[in-house]
Amino acid sequence: EPGEDMALSLRDITVRFGGVCALDHVSIDVPKGSVSGLIGPNGAGKSTLLAVASGLQPVDTGRILVDTEDLTGARPQRFARARMSRTFQAPQLVPEIDVRQHILLGLRSFRSQGWNAKAGALVRGITRSELDRAERLLAELGLSEVARRSPMELPLGLRRLVEVAQCIATDPRILLLDEPSAGLNRVETQAFAAIVSRLSAERGIAVLLVEHDMDLVLEISEQLFVLDFGELIASGATEDVTKDQRVRDAYLGT
Ligand code: ADP
Ligand code: MG
Repeated sequence: EPGEDMALSLRDITVRFGGVCALDHVSIDVPKGSVSGLIGPNGAGKSTLLAVASGLQPVDTGRILVDTEDLTGARPQRFARARMSRTFQAPQLVPEIDVRQHILLGLRSFRSQGWNAKAGALVRGITRSELDRAERLLAELGLSEVARRSPMELPLGLRRLVEVAQCIATDPRILLLDEPSAGLNRVETQAFAAIVSRLSAERGIAVLLVEHDMDLVLEISEQLFVLDFGELIASGATEDVTKDQRVRDAYLGT
């Protein structure tokens, strides 16, 4: 059984799509309050693993424990109530509402996916205290200046930050990020990495980060999980995993 220091435990997870085994008896433990990286080539099963971990993808075998509670087979809303929040490879933002309203939706534990034009109605009747919390969070993430803009007017790096800010507004214990640095330049990636590390450390959030940028992942991940064709080929402390010759050959080129 997983210890109490695990935010998320996947036990013996298998997911098949027809003849493709996207995850093949994969077990991982994501510790509380630190950043874990999930790496592997295209098609390795990384996004499928995040979908399983957030209740979006049913499994063929295995169990999903969130903070030691068995959520296998539960709906995504149940995972959200267990204070799990996530981003997608493509940001899920609503053109009709501004950045601040996205944060207010988050504070009310709504994520924007699928709400679209109705989202504005959900943030009516906001209280002074909700507004203050939203302003503080916007300031903390450097988004105050774009608070009244539609996220669609913003560059991709800021759109990704808006999504993270919305996730943080839900007060998550676990944050799943799918390739957050895709499309960002070096400087934006560095800034993003610093924010994710700081949020995890200061708020005690367990972050599971899917990332192809090895510099970023090695810099901020205390633990590393390596998937290859649906199989977990290495896992553990980053410094140990990066000594593994198979990992070095495949990912580090050393
Ligand atoms: P990664 O995120 O590591 O690039 P994915 O988890 O997206 O990999 O995909 C793993 C494998 O599962 C790939 O072979 C992909 O084509 C397949 N796959 C993923 N989602 C589906 C789906 N909904 N239907 C069929 N095959 C899928
Ligand atoms: Mg993916």
